Amino acid sequence: MLTYLFLACLLGDLLLRYWLARRQIRHVLEHRNDIPPAFASRISLHSHQRAADYTVARSQLGMVERIIEAGVLLGLTLLGGLQAMDLALGRLIDHELWRQMALVGLVLALLGTVGFLFSAWRTFRLEGRFGFNRMTPRLFLTDALKLLAVTLVLGTPLLAAILWLMDSAGIRWAWWAWGVWVGFNLLVLWLYPSFIAPLFNRFTPLDDPELSQRIRALAQRCHFGLSGLFVMDGSRRSAHGNAYFIGFGRHRRIVFFDTLLARLNVDEVEAVLAHELGHFAHHHILRRILVSFITAGVLLHLLAWLSTQVWFYTGLGVIPQLGRPNDGLALVLFMLALPVFTFWVTPIASLLSRRDEFQADRYAVAQCGATALGNALVKLYDDNAATLTPDPLHSAWYDSHPSAAVRIAHLHDG
Ligand SMILES: [Zn+2]
Repeated sequence: MLTYLFLACLLGDLLLRYWLARRQIRHVLEHRNDIPPAFASRISLHSHQRAADYTVARSQLGMVERIIEAGVLLGLTLLGGLQAMDLALGRLIDHELWRQMALVGLVLALLGTVGFLFSAWRTFRLEGRFGFNRMTPRLFLTDALKLLAVTLVLGTPLLAAILWLMDSAGIRWAWWAWGVWVGFNLLVLWLYPSFIAPLFNRFTPLDDPELSQRIRALAQRCHFGLSGLFVMDGSRRSAHGNAYFIGFGRHRRIVFFDTLLARLNVDEVEAVLAHELGHFAHHHILRRILVSFITAGVLLHLLAWLSTQVWFYTGLGVIPQLGRPNDGLALVLFMLALPVFTFWVTPIASLLSRRDEFQADRYAVAQCGATALGNALVKLYDDNAATLTPDPLHSAWYDSHPSAAVRIAHLHDG
């Protein structure tokens, strides 16, 4: 039963993605030569066509990536890859915890390698072709090595703790594992701005008195306690621009990509930031963190139940080892199979995310007016080569942000 359900969902996932990608490509190419009237005076035909070509190229690469991922997934599960790894490690390693950690590590290394290759292709071929990439191969490699080191340092104890709890904490292990997971995530959120992000980027205090003063005034109007304004050297990697804020309590800081500051004027930067503060004022960020914790709790309990069901293993192409713990195996199978089933909630997540974006936009309009935000959005969509004419169904399924035309139309009618 599970085998058929898994295959049906995977096949449905691929077909639906293919169908949506085809629709998107057709729609974008049909409108390649006509800019929507609302943007005609602000976007050049060259920019519009570049956005169309970029969107098409990304859709195509996304399809290839998904097909290869599906192949790897089938190879690991139903075609016996995981079974072979599990048996081989079972012969090599006697220590049960290490054996299971090796299994999880091996699978993650395999998936990481596939992801790394696609990331290299995307950075140097796709982003490079459209002039977005600013990374040298050397920087790309050092980034990957640093990320690997951070993952090993933080992930190894987490994995060991979860596997140990699965084996030793009795039938209520999922609650304990959940506590560890929540604690781990809070720790990473706390470590990130001061210890992890600086490994990859340089953060310098904002050195622009006029802008600083405007932003501090805005933060005060929005009752947003602020400890620092920083500029990040995003231009080392990409021409895409962004702004975000991060950290808790006294450590709360706002970070601008240097690429954003180079492109937007003071009014526009203020409006973009007001939008981010809108997410804060409406508790979107806190809510997202809470939802992710609740989801993790539910999923851990689901895993706790599935890991005791023989059909869960056999249905996904693995026979559990007799007389030895199979927690690592259950964990890996769960991680592999889950996205095939959660793909079907993508449109709901996208819809909720777009609703938050509209809410944050309304907040920004109330603070800074519609004109500055509208101008900033046109520049940002243009700089990121986001298409102005996406297929509506494709957009409804995937897009976490409303398309430019819909979004800007909303600014003016509140
Ligand atoms: Zn937003």
